[in-house]
Amino acid sequence: MTNDPVDVPLLVLGRSSDPDSERGVACPGTLPPASDPDLVERARHAKAALGDSVFVLGHHYQRDEVIQFADVTGDSFKLARQAAARPDAPYIVFCGVHFMAESADILTGDDQRVILPDLAAGCSMADMARIDQVEDAWDALTDAGVAEVTVPVTYMNSSADIKAFCGRNGGVVCTSSNAARALRWAYERHGSDTKVLFLPDQHLGRNTAVRDLGLALDDCVVYGPRRRSGGLSDDDLASARMVLWQGHCSVHGRFSAESVADVRERVPGVTVMVHPECTHEVVLAADRVGSTEAIITTVAEAPAGTAWAIGTELNLVQRLAAEHPDKGVMFLDRTVCFCSTMNRIDLPHLVWALESLVEGTVVNQIRVDDDTAHWARVALDRMLALPG
Ligand code: SF4
Repeated sequence: MTNDPVDVPLLVLGRSSDPDSERGVACPGTLPPASDPDLVERARHAKAALGDSVFVLGHHYQRDEVIQFADVTGDSFKLARQAAARPDAPYIVFCGVHFMAESADILTGDDQRVILPDLAAGCSMADMARIDQVEDAWDALTDAGVAEVTVPVTYMNSSADIKAFCGRNGGVVCTSSNAARALRWAYERHGSDTKVLFLPDQHLGRNTAVRDLGLALDDCVVYGPRRRSGGLSDDDLASARMVLWQGHCSVHGRFSAESVADVRERVPGVTVMVHPECTHEVVLAADRVGSTEAIITTVAEAPAGTAWAIGTELNLVQRLAAEHPDKGVMFLDRTVCFCSTMNRIDLPHLVWALESLVEGTVVNQIRVDDDTAHWARVALDRMLALPG
């Protein structure tokens, strides 16, 4: 088996376009201009006209201008479950990104329609694992003679067909809150021979394997989906306990150990808390590590007067700072930006989606086909059944 790089056609910026990655950038209708001073009133009016027939979900990383219209806020899994708990609402407007709306469609009834106000709101991490690439990786594991003892585990931040792949192949979905439980469950599947293929976030996989399960860094190998056999030999795959997909979050992956050292110097006594999608070096340098929900709870319960440098998405950190003026809540890094795809959902898109519903038109519906939804649900149900 060779490790030669695979030729991948690259698009020269501005000279061509990728219809797959740019699908849905144009909305099939007229968006109100962002400068329209009546946008807030229009959103309020449309939502009131729709009443209980619409349920608006807002991810924690969404802009304030959108979050103010959310009936419930949460992380991706909490929101999908909230949608499933409202079978009486025919329309679910999901203010988040594409994989989240897919999960909501999988968990809601056939008569409910899930709407993503801007189809260009994807997730760069989820896009780093395509189903054909994952099937190639499985072939490589099969060639190395270890697919039978490998359990695929995918982070919630993945497309429905990756979740379905895990469902079909004895695997499970996990969130940043239950990743350790999911890995413990996975490693019990085939005794001491078990390997895990962790998709698509290498950092969450590595941090959880090393911090929570006590694996060594050397037990982990990184599978590069753009390289033949992932850039790994059969021996690499056979000896690894954790095969990490080479994906990452383009926001959390940018925090650095230097930014942790910098804030400690600037703010004596500060507690640094980061999301496990950050790199292993950043997680090692931080005081605390936790999911989005854990960060929110920790800051809420912290004593007044304490200082917190938070390494997660900027919209959420700014909101936490505003909600807790008695605590010093600050963003960990001075240069990291908002999640650009989350920010695609803005007030004009929300108004457009709501007003279209008022007119009887469903725009930007997210649909997962029945077979994919079935197997994705199998992997999600395994997650729900994880031992505590
Ligand atoms: S913050 Fe990262 S993981 Fe979350 S939607 Fe944005 S790119 Fe994806």
